[in-house]
Formats: sequence, structure tokens, C-alpha cells
Amino acid sequence: MSNFKREYEYLHVSLKRAISHVLENGSYVLGDKVEQFEKDFAAYNRVKYCISVANGYEALYIALLALGIKKGDEVITASHSFIASALPITMLGAKPIFVDIDDHYHLDPGKIEAVITSRTKAIIPVHLYGQVANMEKIMKVARKHSLKVIEDACQAHGASYQGKKAGSFGEIAAFSFYPTKNLGAFGDGGAIITNSISLYKKCLMLRNYGQRVKYKHVTFGINSRLDELQAAVLIEKLKVLDAFVAKRNEVAGYYNRYLAGIQEIKCPAVREKSKHAFHLYVIKAEKRNLLRDYLKSCGIQTLVHYPTPIHKQIIYKEFNHIKLPGTEKATKSILSLPMHPFMKKVEVEYVCRAIKKFYEKK
Ligand SMILES: *Cc1c(COP(=O)(O)O)cnc(C)c1O
Repeated sequence: MSNFKREYEYLHVSLKRAISHVLENGSYVLGDKVEQFEKDFAAYNRVKYCISVANGYEALYIALLALGIKKGDEVITASHSFIASALPITMLGAKPIFVDIDDHYHLDPGKIEAVITSRTKAIIPVHLYGQVANMEKIMKVARKHSLKVIEDACQAHGASYQGKKAGSFGEIAAFSFYPTKNLGAFGDGGAIITNSISLYKKCLMLRNYGQRVKYKHVTFGINSRLDELQAAVLIEKLKVLDAFVAKRNEVAGYYNRYLAGIQEIKCPAVREKSKHAFHLYVIKAEKRNLLRDYLKSCGIQTLVHYPTPIHKQIIYKEFNHIKLPGTEKATKSILSLPMHPFMKKVEVEYVCRAIKKFYEKK
């Protein structure tokens, strides 16, 4: 699914230099590199502020805390996502309200109003697979009902919609720099972006024990910081993010072409006025599980993102009965094919030939 060896081979000179600088400098937490990366990442996304944190989960958690989400509140999100889109809501004592997906696997804007109550405080759209959700319509609903919008952009670095970057639509947004993401560190990392100075100041305190100045604790906070080493790595990797996203689009183009004639497969659709960052290349496939087994026997790794919708997880028993037909149907047929910026055309061809062969056999 990824090829970190090829990526490292390509970037090793600049990465080694960046890492050495940090080691020689002797500053390892909240230093110059973190500050530089925050500036760079805010500028990249064309927003005013960035607060780096320890991971994507805590980026969402801190964003919700900063917005004042608390016990008894309801927050609308997608069930068709990684668990981290819902967990921070629960961990704050609030209640996730799951809404079904549209044709692009994103929160369906037309289904939001039906679940809004007097307790609803916010919406977390998830820009799943590297594509921005229908933010035009989601923001319209949010404004009409005075709801805050926290974008889960953990899979969407480099994606844009109507000319705006993922994460720049709502009040605040969360990113993850987990190694497999489009912008990945050599370990865990995350960031929050916002245009609001007050949210920025709150997040700065929340990620660092609630202190504005050292040893003056003015709010309850946590420890969620990005290391200097990871920041130094991310500064270098951010420089090539657009080039890597372009490569991912090229790979997607090969897939689209080679898979075009196969009836049993549906290639991913790109939303109108949207730039897909292809964090994942997700097809819909008939006989998905058998196809997966067959590809495995050909030495091809695939994954399912995600095999169990969040509302069907055992920890979310109270939601298990809810009917989200789009989500439940997608879960059965989705398949993530190998996708990374260093994938060669012949490798895409190999995967597609195997898929073709599987359907011819039956
Ligand atoms: C990866 C991811 C997260 C969480 O990020 P971590 O850095 O692993 O905590 C949250 N939401 C989505 C959609 C993700 O893909």
C-alpha cells in the first residue's frame, strides 16, 4: 500500500540534513522547527494559524475542547470513517450522531438536518480517502443552524474544493501526520488549523498543560506536542507534498484507464470542482472478499477502509441498531488498491491485470 523505502531513497539527503540540524541544535520540544512548520503549514493551507500536536486524534480532541464541546452536547459525524472521527466526541462526554454518506463516501449534507436537535453543537465532516466533502452544502446547513464545523482532514493534505484547501472551510480542522498519510512523519504527529485567533490561543494552551506562560496554568490542558525532529522532517516533506499529490493523481489515472473495461468494478469518482489528493484509491468491487484473496495470492496487498462502520462497533452498542444503508452497503464492496507516489506504471498494470484475470476466471 505504501513504499517508504523508495520515498526515503528519494528524500534522504534533505531529511538527514534536517534531522542532523535538530540533533546538533539541542532543542527537542517546542523549538524553532515546530514554529517554522506551523508557519509553513498554515501558509500552505492559506489559513492564519496552525497549532502542531501529537497526532490526529488529539488534533480533533483539542479542537472540540477549544470549541467548548462538553457532556450532553451532540456532534454530527460520519460512521463511514476511522474510529478517530467519533472517539474524541465520546471521550469528552458528548454524543456522536452518525449520518449516512453520499456517492463520494462523505457525510451526506441532505441528511444532516433530520438529526439536528437542541443539543446539536457541531458537525465533523470527514474528507475521506483524500477528497473534500461537499463543504458548500455542509457549511450552508451549519450556518443555518449556527453549528460549528470541525473538518477531519486527516486524509486530505493537499486536496482542495472550489479552489480552497481541505481544512479551510469550517471554524477549525484536524490533520494527522501518521506515516501512511499523504504528509507523513517518522512517527506520530498532527496539526490543527484555523483562522480564529481565539481558537488558536486556546489550542496553544490546551496542547501544553493549559499554560500561557511557563508554570501559569490558566486552563485544564493536556500534553500533546509535535517533536522538533518530526517538525524538521515535515518541513522537508511539505515541500514535495504537491509533487507527491500529482504523482498520486497520475497513478489514479493509470488505474482508471486499465480498469475501465471491467464491469464488476467501479472506479472512484472525483467530486465536481474538486482536486482529489488520492490518499487512497478505493474501488467498488463485486465479490470483494474473493477478489481480495486472489490479489493476495498474486502478492498484491489491499485493505478495506473500513470493514466495520463506527456505529456497528461493539463500543457503540447504543448505535448498533441505527440504519445507515449507504454506509453499510459501501462497507461490503469497497477495496483500497495499492497507492503511493512511487508506484510505477507497470505495477499498476500488474494489479489491474490480476483483477481482470479474477473476473474472467469465474
Ligand atoms: C488517521 C486518521 C485519524 C487519526 O489520526 P492519528 O494521527 O492516527 O491519531 C483521524 N481521522 C481520520 C479520517 C484518519 O484517517
